[in-house]
Amino acid sequence: MKSEKFSTDKARWQAVRESNADADGAFYYAVITTGVYCRPSCNAKLPNRDNVEYFTTCDDAESAGYRACRKCRPAATSKVVETEQKIIHACRIMEENESSIKLDELAAQVNLSPYHFHRLFKKIVGVTPKQYASRQQALRFFKNLKSSSSVTEAIYRAGYGSSGTAYDKKRDQLAMKPSVYRKGAEGVTITYGLATCFLGWVIVAATDRGICLIEFGDDPDTLPELVHTRFPNAQISKADSGFKTLLEEVVDFIESPKDTFQLPLDIQGTAFQQQVWTVLRQIKPGESMSYTEVAERIGKPKAVRAVASACASNKLAVAVPCHRVVSKTGKTGGYRWGTERKRRLLESEQDQS
Ligand SMILES: [Zn+2]
Repeated sequence: MKSEKFSTDKARWQAVRESNADADGAFYYAVITTGVYCRPSCNAKLPNRDNVEYFTTCDDAESAGYRACRKCRPAATSKVVETEQKIIHACRIMEENESSIKLDELAAQVNLSPYHFHRLFKKIVGVTPKQYASRQQALRFFKNLKSSSSVTEAIYRAGYGSSGTAYDKKRDQLAMKPSVYRKGAEGVTITYGLATCFLGWVIVAATDRGICLIEFGDDPDTLPELVHTRFPNAQISKADSGFKTLLEEVVDFIESPKDTFQLPLDIQGTAFQQQVWTVLRQIKPGESMSYTEVAERIGKPKAVRAVASACASNKLAVAVPCHRVVSKTGKTGGYRWGTERKRRLLESEQDQS
């Protein structure tokens, strides 16, 4: 036990000298000359050993006349716990509410000022309240997708409202954690479905956060292997009929792309790839950009080759429109799913715009 390990004055003094955080909770030390008591881990100036007194609890130290150190806040434990509980409570409120709640209202509900609430939330949860709320919406969206007759209805029911643009702003926050991706998507459940479009077969795979893969191919039997190759450690299964509306929406988008892809995407890639893909998503249907222009746009004009390679490693065909990047001379340039498909996509977008 902790308190046993630090039961002697000798052990306690050593812990204080080393600012040993392991000793926190086992005892407190007080300094006679300053009248202040501290946690062993406090990095305040080391007192003279002769002026030090030890206590088992904060109460004991306080009844002996000492006041808590402002640096290491020895009595703050319960306060910290209380704050954490407030933040957890706010998370629950967001999870349970279909419509979005204003930050001020949420803060008021847990008795914190909006400023503190935002700061504490970020510190404890790791994302902003806004990011957390949009993540919850995305989760509801995928839950609703199975029971809704259309994606639009699912969007409504998830609390996104009628506007696809609100959706659009939020989708970047939905990416799989890079650490998870590096482990081959270990612990991630992926569902996929197959459909046909004017470019042949298309496979669409999604995590609970969004679509993580859209790829073309000629053979529906070998396409699922792509999902296994990309996410070797994920739990992968073929979707049931609940996936149909999502597939239809993707095929619709491939055949007549609107400005932006409306469904949430679960995008993984290096920081550089993500920068490139963000630029690509700003190119409207019927327009194109050269690899050089993309490189300039991300502020790395010399990285033309790296841009081309980021385009080639895109795994969200058309949703991240890498086909709209062409070579400087106006030639179609390469395409992960074949130059013929790229040419036909560009042609079809020209016709529609
Ligand atoms: Zn202290």
